[in-house]
Amino acid sequence: MPDIIQLLPDHVANQIAAGEVVQRPASVVKELMENAIDAEATSIKLIVREAGKTLIQVIDNGKGMSQTDARLSFERHATSKIKKAEDLFNLHTKGFRGEALASIAAIAHVELKTKQEDQQLGSCLKIEGSTLISHENISTSTGTSVAVKNLFYNIPARRNFLKSNTIETRYIVNEFQRVALAHPNIAFSFYHNENEVYNLSTGNLRQRIVAILGKKTNEKLVPIHEITDLVEIKGFVTKPEFAKRKRDEQFFFVNDRFIKNAYLNHAVSSAFENLLSGGHYPTYFLYLTVPTNSIDINIHPTKTEIKFDDEKTLYAILRSAVKHSLGQYNVGPILDFDRDATLDTPYNLKGTNSPNPRVMVNPDFNPFKSEEQKSIQFPYHREKNREWESLYNGLDSTGLDFRSETADSVMFSEEKENSKTYQVHKKYIVSSIKSGIVYINQQLAHQRILYEEFLANITVKDAMSQQLLFPLELSFNTADIALIKEIKDELESIGFLFGEIANDILVIMGMPVNIIESQINAIIENLLEDIKNDIPNTSFSQVDIMAKSLSKSLAIKTGIKLDLKEQEDIVNKLFLCKQPDSSPFGKKTFITVNIDEIDKEFNN
Ligand code: ADP
Ligand code: MG
Repeated sequence: MPDIIQLLPDHVANQIAAGEVVQRPASVVKELMENAIDAEATSIKLIVREAGKTLIQVIDNGKGMSQTDARLSFERHATSKIKKAEDLFNLHTKGFRGEALASIAAIAHVELKTKQEDQQLGSCLKIEGSTLISHENISTSTGTSVAVKNLFYNIPARRNFLKSNTIETRYIVNEFQRVALAHPNIAFSFYHNENEVYNLSTGNLRQRIVAILGKKTNEKLVPIHEITDLVEIKGFVTKPEFAKRKRDEQFFFVNDRFIKNAYLNHAVSSAFENLLSGGHYPTYFLYLTVPTNSIDINIHPTKTEIKFDDEKTLYAILRSAVKHSLGQYNVGPILDFDRDATLDTPYNLKGTNSPNPRVMVNPDFNPFKSEEQKSIQFPYHREKNREWESLYNGLDSTGLDFRSETADSVMFSEEKENSKTYQVHKKYIVSSIKSGIVYINQQLAHQRILYEEFLANITVKDAMSQQLLFPLELSFNTADIALIKEIKDELESIGFLFGEIANDILVIMGMPVNIIESQINAIIENLLEDIKNDIPNTSFSQVDIMAKSLSKSLAIKTGIKLDLKEQEDIVNKLFLCKQPDSSPFGKKTFITVNIDEIDKEFNN
């Protein structure tokens, strides 16, 4: 047998390695920004076009590279950051693998411009798919610019798997935020398709957080500072009343590196115990500094996971530090700490409480209850569906025959005369039909009804809107505001009316008739979450996600008592739907039991 093992050519090996380092445009953003930080830049500019699919460029004013280094930087395992294995335990840089530039250059068109301070001329290198195209001397400013074009141009499968621009941009914004939050002493700017998304000047941590997440964040922050032998903890949590229904504002940094750690997250959450209502999560920005030799960051290629030597102690310290601070600001229950502890800070938050309404969802909300006419305000344009109509034929005379006299008089003392429906367990609407009995799940049925209504309204654009007496000012972060702008038209067509949409403020002047004011923040937050988490690749699917999200938020829930009129309303509207038998999420909305089957049971 001949020998069959060969060494892979470099460009193939690089392409394979690239798969691990570069999952999506955001991975490139992270690597390039981290290189700029490692080069001690004080100002970093990120330019992105089409969610990074056509261009990602990072320009820094760091120390630059010599001619030779510029060429070498694209070799695999070429790094200036470590020399020997032991250095891994004393890392002060973000990078150390020497893989990023080699990987990126293997799967994109890259142009590097770089100059060191003492050089007259800098270098410009062009590399496409690991091949050096040109290397010239140019005049350029001190620092480095790396432009990455046409990512995955030679791996179509990868390119095709990229998500919509909305989603990929979201990933990029997340990476940008993480890096910018970790380095308030560096100025950052971020442009997407020529629009300025962020322009962050240097400042302290609080200023950086506020610049990224919006002005209103300021009054929500409770500072934390704790120094022990094992760790120094700095940063902020937000007051419990500002907890969110989403977890995307939870940030841990260890030695200025963003990390995810479920165990430490638990430590923070448990400090908030009994302070949060269900489904709400604390927002936090926590910066841990630990000795470099007490962590191992080498366990995950994208380096957001980290192993600590003494996780249990860290957990306890973190938990008590958070509890302590919440107590200091009178937001916690009685604590087992001395109040005169060392945690005094320059920030006096007392008396700066925002008068804003708290975000709370009323679980008993019933859209039919508050205003009787709401349920009939939705315009109906569709013809009655013949097929479903037949289900109800011959019902008048026999309606609800199966109910006993007693149950009847208890449940429907007033309207029992000609009632056709009956609610059981505050969950199902039961009704007699020609062939037997139908059981309708009130929540799922109402989801279907609202879903079709929203879809119809988005396309027909004639939804009813209720003007608010006092416009509502909501605070969102810049990235969320950008997303809201993107779906503004659709939101308006289902009844939202917007006033000012600023960098981090959204003013609502009117809203769909079936929404109540106190719910609106939660509804929009849910909507943004759903859009971010889904995979909308066309504008159609974005509309679909919106309709689904709103129908889920607004449908009457299990556990709500419905009066007869409300029950009938659901039954009637359900069977006017185009697809009455399933919820927007594919669950059955009703089941039927045939009278023959019932008969059989009695004839046994
Ligand atoms: P790593 O960051 O793990 O060392 P990279 O492939 O990201 O590997 O970069 C390779 C080398 O190129 C770095 O070690 C650094 O010396 C140099 N380099 C990369 N980007 C920059 C930059 N923006 N400014 C200065 N030097 C850089
Ligand atoms: Mg690097």
